[in-house]
Amino acid sequence: MQELDVLIEVLKSKHDIDKESIVKLLTCKESKSIYAAADEVRSCVVGKEVHLRGLIEFSSYCCRTCFYCGLRSANSTLKRYRLEPKEILECASRAVAYGLKTIVLQSGEDKSYSINVLCKIVQAIKGMDVAVTLSIGELKRSEYAELKKAGADRYLLRIETSNENLYNGLHPGMSYKNRVRCLYDLKELGYETGTGCLIGIPGQTIDMLAEDLLFFKKLDADMIGMGPFIPCDGTPLEKSEGGKVDLVYRMMSLTRLFLPEVNMPVTTALGVKDYNGYKNGLMCGANVIMPNMGMSEYKKMYAIYPGKGESINNMENQIENIKKVVFELGRSIGVDYGSRRKTTK
Ligand code: SAM
Ligand code: SF4
Repeated sequence: MQELDVLIEVLKSKHDIDKESIVKLLTCKESKSIYAAADEVRSCVVGKEVHLRGLIEFSSYCCRTCFYCGLRSANSTLKRYRLEPKEILECASRAVAYGLKTIVLQSGEDKSYSINVLCKIVQAIKGMDVAVTLSIGELKRSEYAELKKAGADRYLLRIETSNENLYNGLHPGMSYKNRVRCLYDLKELGYETGTGCLIGIPGQTIDMLAEDLLFFKKLDADMIGMGPFIPCDGTPLEKSEGGKVDLVYRMMSLTRLFLPEVNMPVTTALGVKDYNGYKNGLMCGANVIMPNMGMSEYKKMYAIYPGKGESINNMENQIENIKKVVFELGRSIGVDYGSRRKTTK
């Protein structure tokens, strides 16, 4: 057996290898056998169901200035919007009417929604018999606790990069230590906790990506979202090169092999860079897709990067297209909340 085959077999059975071996798997020419191994583990551990999460991007206002993101507060060219609580609930009930079992509320860090108002929104959505995921950035532990008490089930907060120096360089006024604190608070408070990284961000090395995988494992992340960095006008990285989709597929496959139980979406950014992103992502270990259920007039305005929201026409088509890809792969649509299935602990 070749060395790479041995490494893949070890990963398939033990779901653990050292950093040096991860680097080998990230850089080797052979990708098909890594993708196939991830697909096999996905099928054995989380099954053939693909869970649809209804994404509502409820505000494009943000007080942060992350170097890569079009929503950064310093991007004065961006036309901003924020939804009223009533509008958020309307979007959520529309998603529920389409049969979706999870609502994901995402926004920039917009301090104009108080925790109290956010708790009321969460409570109202929980009354629709769905799981609620939040992705609204860094908060105090006590605020995460209040939102959990109001019924929030899950939280997405990417570490973006687990390299402290790179993280601090890309996030003025923020700190790697606080990001990590947030993630461990979320875990301790009982959230299903999602994290992930940007792939191909300037300054990132393969070694750092290998460390990202080790970071996810140490955190025992329940969900991992990864996508290519896409340069965005109006940001300090607008002239940089973007991330490569092949490296994203490699990272997704290794994530499935390394953390077999995670829920892992095909991210929107991947769909923007690869026309067949849904199909290819689902074949590299993914088991989640997040259709955009926000208000159509605002989808393009949540302009994290160029191209976002352009392929979304109407909701029904969006969901039908997703189902077509899923069924063509012989997979099915999840009918329950699609929480993390713990099989190894
Ligand atoms: N504000 C929250 C936060 O940062 O956690 C949630 C919203 S933020 C827009 C969601 C994700 O978008 C970030 O975690 C980041 O990885 C991703 N993102 C931002 N700019 C991007 C870009 N230029 N290319 C690809 N992904 C990007
Ligand atoms: Fe704001 Fe999130 Fe964009 Fe950073 S990544 S600027 S916190 S929306």
